[in-house]
Amino acid sequence: MRAMRLERPAPIAERPLILRDLEERAPAPGELALRVKACAVCRTDLQLCESDVTAHRLPITPGHQVVGIVETIGEDLTDWKIGDRAGVAWLGGADGVCAYCVSGRENLCPNATFTGWDRDGGFAGRIIVRADFALHLPTSFSDTEAAPLLCGGIIGYRALKRSGIQPGGRLGLYGFGASALLAIQVARYWGCEIYVRTRSEHDQLEALELGAADADSYDAPTPSPLDAAVTFAPVGSVVIEALKALAPGGTVAINAIHLDQMPAFSYDLLWGERNLSSVANFTRADANEFLELAARIPIRTTTRTFPLEEANEALAAHAAGDVQGAAVLIP
Ligand SMILES: [Zn+2]
Ligand SMILES: [Zn+2]
Repeated sequence: MRAMRLERPAPIAERPLILRDLEERAPAPGELALRVKACAVCRTDLQLCESDVTAHRLPITPGHQVVGIVETIGEDLTDWKIGDRAGVAWLGGADGVCAYCVSGRENLCPNATFTGWDRDGGFAGRIIVRADFALHLPTSFSDTEAAPLLCGGIIGYRALKRSGIQPGGRLGLYGFGASALLAIQVARYWGCEIYVRTRSEHDQLEALELGAADADSYDAPTPSPLDAAVTFAPVGSVVIEALKALAPGGTVAINAIHLDQMPAFSYDLLWGERNLSSVANFTRADANEFLELAARIPIRTTTRTFPLEEANEALAAHAAGDVQGAAVLIP
């Protein structure tokens, strides 16, 4: 099978992903082999390729927003059949027995494994996954439409939950990339009043089209304090801007696996029981809740497809902000 492999991280301009032809292995008990139909590209893939996120093992096939068709089923599995469509996302496995797993917080499992980081991911023609972490996808989305829901969508949804935003509340979205494009549609569905802050004027216009009450640059004050905010930009100074706009008792949820740094800031900004929270991974419950909600709203995804062998170009386009919505690789 063909796969775009990361052997040595390097700036994306140096095309660190290399097309390889790999031998196909059979799924072990409890695993499924999927024929990949589409795999969306995420900022984390870029950060892994460029070593901003340290590789867990090399070589590795990145890609953790995978839509595939079940091709082979490992022993002892009854809940999947050949030909089923399955989604594969960032959380590739957890031990199921630690204090976090048994308390509904498998996203924090110290033995969690991640797709495209610990396990080979979806920048390939075929992928082997743990069947109990494969997701059933709503039929209303095509393969290409469903792929970007699987990271940007699910983790954006968890970020909204972590922010504590309530239906009808005043919500700030700081940064407006692929994940925020999906989160704003959920927040609109909940009747929230949404303030988008982002550098790009083009993205500001798009936010207004999607129902933001206003859209402006990162440092523009909001007309009244926010009940909650989610930051999507991987930049610590943006977190501080969000904190400045927050009402007492509110939360800024930071939707980034990697942030450049957190600048020092005045304690006055945090005083008043304001909270800062990171957003780490997701649980399968988050994934299933979000996918059901995405079909009900229904969420619209905007995508630009690239052939698998152009994964470097897709990541470069993503990095440059040249992709409307999400870049999706098609093997
Ligand atoms: Zn665990
Ligand atoms: Zn991701």
